[in-house]
Amino acid sequence: MRTAYQYKLRPTKKQTASIDRWLSMLCAQYNYLLADRFDWYEQNRCQINACPLVCHIPELRDNPDYYSQKKTLPNLKKTHPHYGDIHSQVLQDVCSRVKLTFDRFLSGDSNGNRSGRPRFKSRDRYRTFTYPQMKDDCIQSNLINLPKLGQIKIVLHRPIPDGFKVKTASVTKKADGYYCTVSLEDATIPTVKPDINPESITGIDMGLKEFLTTSDGEPVGIPQHYRKAQKRLRVIQKRVSRRKKGSNRRHKSVKQLAKQHKKVADKRKDFHFKTAKQLLSKYDVVVHEDLNVKGLSRTRLAKSMHDAGWSSFLSILTNKAENAGLLVIAVNPKNTSQDCSSCGAKVPKKLHERWHSCQCGLSLGRDHNAAINIRNRAVGHSVLKAQSLRAQ
Ligand SMILES: [Zn+2]
Repeated sequence: MRTAYQYKLRPTKKQTASIDRWLSMLCAQYNYLLADRFDWYEQNRCQINACPLVCHIPELRDNPDYYSQKKTLPNLKKTHPHYGDIHSQVLQDVCSRVKLTFDRFLSGDSNGNRSGRPRFKSRDRYRTFTYPQMKDDCIQSNLINLPKLGQIKIVLHRPIPDGFKVKTASVTKKADGYYCTVSLEDATIPTVKPDINPESITGIDMGLKEFLTTSDGEPVGIPQHYRKAQKRLRVIQKRVSRRKKGSNRRHKSVKQLAKQHKKVADKRKDFHFKTAKQLLSKYDVVVHEDLNVKGLSRTRLAKSMHDAGWSSFLSILTNKAENAGLLVIAVNPKNTSQDCSSCGAKVPKKLHERWHSCQCGLSLGRDHNAAINIRNRAVGHSVLKAQSLRAQ
């Protein structure tokens, strides 16, 4: 089983300076390697409808890949000796980052989803570097030993669980300081197989007014403190835009804004974890609308500012369920709010109509009705079938 914990770092001034220096050097190297890839790509392709019959053949150069780019690093250290200050594996990790982003651009990830053209990163947007191999005993009391940076103070707000070994470590610069994400592995713990009670099932409808409504009709609202933090975000945003570009005062308020963004993100994450825990402690199976079905409910969802929030909530929910041996199912969201959950008739409603009342006599909240529809769509799911067969 693999998991990741994030801890806050408290580097000294000298350590902060070297982390910042590393980041700017790595950023430059990242951009250089990316440009190298683009160069080859542009030189060695030709539009299929505009290919000249007679053309000059450019001098062929091998396609830069992970290994060839990695081989250029010793030379880099000769021509730019200050790169020698960086731990070699951290530098090599830049090559794998370039490889990853370029592969996603050309051929897509494991689901075949292609990302856009990789962008050159500005110094502000390059915030993380990774040690791909860490010694197991790198954390001693409140210090972490990062090679070539030395012993850095770490705030262990929760201990590393027994039996887990530190595999990699990433250092990230955020608005309010430096963080270290360690990935942990315990090979002895197998992945949990779902062992569920198919009767303990609920559907959730995610909405704009309430965060979600379960098929038992229980709403989970968006917490007040989160809305407050978001309101404050708008106030600071205004402050930034009022101030003159390039001025000291603007720079100050930009920093403030970044901190507030982090605050909002932290609050949202906390809320998501708590909601997911509540749901999974009550139910064994949670059914939700599949957000990735193209062209269906996207129009309704895409406009919502909570869109990003929903997908991150669902990934937290799925992850938590997997670790606990529970199940989260995504179903087709088509017409979940229009159909009657009792007789199946279509009852068209506009978005502002919050009540569902059908000819068959069913009368309940719109979101509640949708949640029941969502739950009913999971009936016949292969895992549920297998579980109920085993129960019999
Ligand atoms: Zn009905």
